[in-house]
Amino acid sequence: MRQYSRPFHRIEIRAQGQTLLCTIGLKVFTIIVMQSHEDLKQHLIRIDGKGYKAYKDLKGSYAFPEYTFSIDHVQGDPFAAPSRCRVEMPQSIARFPDDLIRSPIRRIALADALTREFDSQSRRASKRCGTGNSGLIEIDRPKQEVLERTSASVNDERVEARFFVGLPAKGRTILGREALRIINESLPALVDCSLKFKNLDPATLQHFVETIEDADAIRKGLRARGLIAFVANGAILPRKSGIDPRPLEKGAIPFNAPETLAQTFERPNQGPITGMGIPQGVTLIVGGGYHGKSTLLRAIECGVYNHVPGDGRDYVVCDPDIVKIRAEDQRAVTGVDISPFINNLPQGRATTFFSTENASGSTSQAANIVEALEVGAKGFLIDEDTAATNFMIRDHRMQELIAKTHEPITPFIDKVRPLYSDFGVSTILVIGGSGDYFDVADTVIAMEQYQASDVTARAKNIAMKYTSRRRSEGGSGFGILRHRIPIPESLDPSRLSREVHLKTYDIETIAFGTEKIDLSAVEQLVEKSQVRAIAHAMMYAKIKYMNEDATLAEIADRIMQDVAEQGLDALTEEKFADLATFRKFEWVAAVNRLRTLKVQSKG
Ligand code: ADP
Ligand code: MG
Repeated sequence: MRQYSRPFHRIEIRAQGQTLLCTIGLKVFTIIVMQSHEDLKQHLIRIDGKGYKAYKDLKGSYAFPEYTFSIDHVQGDPFAAPSRCRVEMPQSIARFPDDLIRSPIRRIALADALTREFDSQSRRASKRCGTGNSGLIEIDRPKQEVLERTSASVNDERVEARFFVGLPAKGRTILGREALRIINESLPALVDCSLKFKNLDPATLQHFVETIEDADAIRKGLRARGLIAFVANGAILPRKSGIDPRPLEKGAIPFNAPETLAQTFERPNQGPITGMGIPQGVTLIVGGGYHGKSTLLRAIECGVYNHVPGDGRDYVVCDPDIVKIRAEDQRAVTGVDISPFINNLPQGRATTFFSTENASGSTSQAANIVEALEVGAKGFLIDEDTAATNFMIRDHRMQELIAKTHEPITPFIDKVRPLYSDFGVSTILVIGGSGDYFDVADTVIAMEQYQASDVTARAKNIAMKYTSRRRSEGGSGFGILRHRIPIPESLDPSRLSREVHLKTYDIETIAFGTEKIDLSAVEQLVEKSQVRAIAHAMMYAKIKYMNEDATLAEIADRIMQDVAEQGLDALTEEKFADLATFRKFEWVAAVNRLRTLKVQSKG
């Protein structure tokens, strides 16, 4: 038997950039050394006048008297997207009262408010100089929705803001003194006025946090009352314009609930509030053209999110699992069972595993519905303005002319009730053009001069008096809901020499490898940062959860659970500054619109 002598423990410490490599025996530990703001200052003076590349070494964390400043990513040149930076300030200095951060929803609201404050202050603080983005200080800019975002977060221990700085240069020559001015003057002043409680208006913050908590509480209370949506009295629903989501100011008529649908909710902070409760089941919104039907529906669909105080939709909320459905011809569809709606296609094409590169209006709308059901939608919103007519209705006269055997489409009117009875899925429909729907509705709301009234009884009387004479074509139930398993290899994010190419150009497009995913018809997305997070979540899902047997629904749930537990940082290795929270419905919508997607049916 050979004897091994115990080896001497080798201990060695070696510096590598800003990390220390510490070797003990065979194990190597890395220790990140925090440099001081003085080090940063010296560094900037040293690289003044050098080529832009010299900025690269700035990556790292620096201790300032009141906070830690980190540069997480350095831009390649002055025209590139500005460098990603971060400030962490301990609560011992920021001093936000416990009351503002005592629940998750309060923390999300406060962080969102801080992003907005940082945004407005940074417009003053950033002084452009030199070339390209030089001198810019900018944070991800929120719109009307209050969302969990990576731009700011707050907890018991610290406040964090993530933002962008255009590291200054003239041409490609580093302006070190300008950089120094940003780091030593602009940034500390900006941090001071936007991240310290004492420099903020406490009443505004309090109101912000309480409004969000109240709206959230109403949304959570909907199901217990058998409601799918709530629109508060006094709400301002119309927007400034089709491209400006702020409230219409001139001539906006505040919402007022019909008495028969009035509901009162007790808010945790601001007392009782009354408005219109839309019951679960099938609801029609009817009325003449230009009387506010689509505006009401649009406000409801945005009710999955909370809004900033003063938005007008502060207390317009809907069930969190409500999905807007529309026709979307030309989209790709992959292996979806659309047979509840579409059968007997020409050339005998199967519809239980239906794929196309180029869907029609009706097949796309059918696929949109089935895909949302697959991941657990609890309600649908459909506007006649964006629906395929032949998908919505087929009246008595048309039934007489074209036999069912020659019409592949089973219209939505014959499936809307089974959706509710089989799956508990409610529908709110804007439909000014077809009274046939009176037969299948539980509630009918009329919009007249932007005023809502309950016309359910009248509609039912009319339906009895003038029968539609149409035959139901839908059979007894909705049909089978089949789950799909995505094939991980079919999500390929590589492009040219790059292993991962993910980009978000606007709110409508994700570049995924060589593919472009078109999200223009996914109407409940409100911010580009959500789309960016969804792109990362697709990668995350592929790596972590896609395998031989996980269905899209299971994968979607796991992603949402990880984000709920660990925040949006769970999705990426780097700390991104511009991700915002999203729902599983919008995540799966992106996956479903990837044209390379391949799936197999479960079971
Ligand atoms: P519909 O769908 O019934 O045809 P819309 O909802 O598109 O009508 O509304 C038509 C116009 O009326 C839009 O320009 C919208 O901004 C405006 N509008 C909607 N609701 C209100 C309101 N409550 N007060 C003032 N204007 C409104
Ligand atoms: Mg309309």
